[in-house]
Amino acid sequence: MKTCGLLGGMSWESTAGYYRAINEGVKTALGGLHSAKIAMYSVDFDPVQQLQHAENWKGAAKLLSDAAQKVESAGADFLLICTNTMHKVAPQIEDSINIPLLHIADATAESLVSEGIQSVGFLGTAFTMEQDFLTGRLTQNYDLKVLIPNKRDRQIVHRVIYQELCMGHVQAESKAEYLRIIDTLSSMGAEAVVLGCTEIGMLIEQDDTGVKLFDSTAIHAQKAVDCALDKAS
Ligand code: GLU
Repeated sequence: MKTCGLLGGMSWESTAGYYRAINEGVKTALGGLHSAKIAMYSVDFDPVQQLQHAENWKGAAKLLSDAAQKVESAGADFLLICTNTMHKVAPQIEDSINIPLLHIADATAESLVSEGIQSVGFLGTAFTMEQDFLTGRLTQNYDLKVLIPNKRDRQIVHRVIYQELCMGHVQAESKAEYLRIIDTLSSMGAEAVVLGCTEIGMLIEQDDTGVKLFDSTAIHAQKAVDCALDKAS
């Protein structure tokens, strides 16, 4: 089994989900007392989110590249950046290490394409919804049509991520708002909706809606399991 490298802490609430999902995946595949081999570096999220909101992407790239090198030094065979948003600096992180990066957009897109989805709604931070470092990869490399909420709804989705989910707060009113926004994306023509922020799975589950969901955390974690067990395509 290969060792999964996790660059986590963004937020730790979602990294805990990765840790559980990867271990569950290995346990399901191998049974008994098997568990995943994981090397993780978990950053302090506050300075990271300050760099994000100051649009200091160079500073964020440096901080995360240093952390990624620590994961590699700890024995990881490949790296996952456990957040959609910080894939903004994935090219710089990738350049700073010698192990492969499992890009969250590739994992998500492969899953969408394998299910025959062509038009998809995308929920995430304002950075991921409004810039094209992730959604552009879905459209350009996988020919997917990506729909995002209107400005007011993007503000709601972004606020709930940073002011609630990243702090471990799951609120019924926010869940209702997200479900309304998911329905709107569906009525705009989305055949499915990507939970393109690693905390959204704390708030919304497939059973909450008739709209097909693709949870980036679960998909990325399963990709790590497949890669660790040499089952990745
Ligand atoms: N974990 C989130 C994401 O997947 C947001 C937190 C962050 O900015 O990294 O985008």
